[in-house]
Amino acid sequence: MNFIEMISQRNEEFVRSGHSADLKIIPSTKTIIIGCLDPRVDPMDILELKPGEAAIIRNIGGRVNPALLETLILFPIVTKAAGQEMGPGWNLVILHHTDCGIIGCYKHAPDLLATHLGVARSELESMSITDPRKAVAMDVAAYKSVKELPGGFMISGIVYDISTGKIEVIVPPSQLRSDQ
Ligand SMILES: [Zn+2]
Repeated sequence: MNFIEMISQRNEEFVRSGHSADLKIIPSTKTIIIGCLDPRVDPMDILELKPGEAAIIRNIGGRVNPALLETLILFPIVTKAAGQEMGPGWNLVILHHTDCGIIGCYKHAPDLLATHLGVARSELESMSITDPRKAVAMDVAAYKSVKELPGGFMISGIVYDISTGKIEVIVPPSQLRSDQ
């Protein structure tokens, strides 16, 4: 059985017992999670999320970059079209992890990584690429400085430990900006 045959078979089971047409485009916990694409750190798995609970954006390392910001700036338009303003009551959770592959990018392809992150090559040194705890705090601070994002929601920074499966709250929830 090839991969497509395998997922087709699994989807048939999902249609029978997992699918719900009642799920909404607005995440039921009003939460957006930003994480790494590493298959070991899927927020659906490690946070035991249920379908429809959170909107999840994943890239290499879960680091803030221009593409991710574009998505985040567009998402409130999606929610508004669905009848809900993104603001108070919403959460933005930044989820980084230990043993992240972004460290390999830093070592082996720093120019590509700098382009991906939207920074100069010389700035990479100061981005705490190898330290997820410092990196998640840096990113929370970076999001707080983006004026195009709705300011009313809470932001927090979490690190997942690959070796234990535990999360550690590095940056407790605080309002993105106080102007809303
Ligand atoms: Zn990673």
